[in-house]
Amino acid sequence: MRTPIIAGNWKMNNTNAAAEQLINELKPLVADAKAEVVICVPYTAIATAARLTKGSNIKVGAENVSWADKGAFTGEISAEMLKEVGAEYVIIGHSERRQMFGETDETVNKRTVQALKNGLKPIVCVGETLQERESDRTKDVVKTQTAGAFAGMQAADLDNVVIAYEPVWAIGTGKTATAEQANETIAYIRSVVADLFGKTAADKLRIQYGGSMNPQNAAALMAQPDIDGGLIGGASLKAVDFSKVVKY
Ligand code: PEP
Repeated sequence: MRTPIIAGNWKMNNTNAAAEQLINELKPLVADAKAEVVICVPYTAIATAARLTKGSNIKVGAENVSWADKGAFTGEISAEMLKEVGAEYVIIGHSERRQMFGETDETVNKRTVQALKNGLKPIVCVGETLQERESDRTKDVVKTQTAGAFAGMQAADLDNVVIAYEPVWAIGTGKTATAEQANETIAYIRSVVADLFGKTAADKLRIQYGGSMNPQNAAALMAQPDIDGGLIGGASLKAVDFSKVVKY
């Protein structure tokens, strides 16, 4: 009943020329996909991606959004600007932004509120570091991040939200959480959402796994009952690999 959603996270990769090549290669490969397909691309490639995917089943997302409407926020990009160039989704709180750019649960919350207010669909990232997992703090961490991201919101706000559970130690490292490990934490996140917003909202909410997901491990991860999709970094940069994940 939850439509799977496979989203690519291109990170800081692909000029417009490279984006054009990748999207043109990808389009026919995923045309008959059963999952919802999204590519989250650098700001500079959003307009190109929106133009090239028009009329296809590929949706376009950004990788961050400002929490403010407009004004003196040098270097930031507003939700209105993202919508104008064709973004439908936006990644918020990716661990690279939490680790390198000072993102906190509070700023993740502000960006998520702002995205929803402007009709963008947030893909909110949560996940523990290796140190946190080894000290048995995974549940505490994802609970705090989940409660923080959605503070002050109502159950109905979650209709347009996706959560990506991304253990930080599995991102870009080639180490994947086992399908069972990923499912266990995702089921726990769903229980946290149920406590906060009720079981109906939690049952409807799509929760992806992210962290070195690739054509080899996608089927096993997607076979798990609580895993509703993937957020794909490295493997989303190659059309054939990404299409294989999409068609797990
Ligand atoms: C990511 O950056 O969201 C990610 C999951 O990356 P990778 O697939 O490369 O681990």
